[in-house]
Amino acid sequence: MSNHLVGINQRTKDYLISKVNNRMLFEHRKVWLEQCGNIPKGYMIHHINGDKKDNRKENLVCVSRKVHGKLHSKSVVTNPQDVVIKDGGLI
Ligand SMILES: [Zn+2]
Repeated sequence: MSNHLVGINQRTKDYLISKVNNRMLFEHRKVWLEQCGNIPKGYMIHHINGDKKDNRKENLVCVSRKVHGKLHSKSVVTNPQDVVIKDGGLI
């Protein structure tokens, strides 16, 4: 099974990219898909500690695009723990 890290997002220079079955996939999305299940349409995987190379399952949370925008908005202080749903649940 071909499944390995191939590089880094050239545009943002932060997200790691893996190649899975000849498809390019963000490493954090791959980890989530493998360990937590599906990512519904419109949902994103966020790095809780802000380190986009820290792709441990514990550092990832699946949030809606809207919530994700808030998490990255500098004007809104949001504690990521507030949006973490346990047991792989979704917001
Ligand atoms: Zn994020």
